[in-house]
Amino acid sequence: MLNIILFGPPGAGKGTQSARLIEKYGLVHLSTGDVFRYNIKNQTELGVLAKSFIDKGQLVPDEVTNHMVKDFIARNNNDKGFIFDGYPRTIAQGENLDRVLEEYQANVTSMIALEVDEDELVIRLLERGKSRGRADDQDEAIIRNRFKVYNDETSPLANFYATKGKFIAVKGKGSIDEIFQNLCKAIDGVSQL
Ligand code: ADP
Repeated sequence: MLNIILFGPPGAGKGTQSARLIEKYGLVHLSTGDVFRYNIKNQTELGVLAKSFIDKGQLVPDEVTNHMVKDFIARNNNDKGFIFDGYPRTIAQGENLDRVLEEYQANVTSMIALEVDEDELVIRLLERGKSRGRADDQDEAIIRNRFKVYNDETSPLANFYATKGKFIAVKGKGSIDEIFQNLCKAIDGVSQL
């Protein structure tokens, strides 16, 4: 199995690139943000709970997110593997992912990080807020809070995977096609090991 964590701050392009990567490599896409938004739209119990955190730019609690991911993997298990987009976002989530994949005799192949400057990210997010109407993209204070959470809680995961020799950084600036080619090179490098 090829289990890739696509990593990077809000607005780095994880969703856009995931859509292309799953097509090329035949992987299943797990975007925790998309699963939460689907639940919010359908007003499920999980959606109501998640919304109260997402609207403030905070993380949904680990127990809730970890449970959802375990359930998603059980329902979408496949031979080829997954692209994890927006998960894990804390060390506790990273540890959970290892445990869940182990149940399937699998593990994380690599974390691939898209690197983009913060100023560029704010511009992209405000633009996305206008075109796609995501409430958490329309308010600069919420966006700044998401970066703070990213820097405090999520960025330590880079080191978590680097110490396992599983971290690869990729330049997230340039055209969508250029970035896609950079990601494919990184994935082809690890899938041949
Ligand atoms: P972005 O990466 O652009 O912020 P996402 O769609 O990945 O967008 O996430 C939107 C929001 O959903 C996050 O700000 C957070 O509140 C919540 N969320 C998504 N993934 C997780 C996660 N793994 N753990 C906790 N909260 C999450």
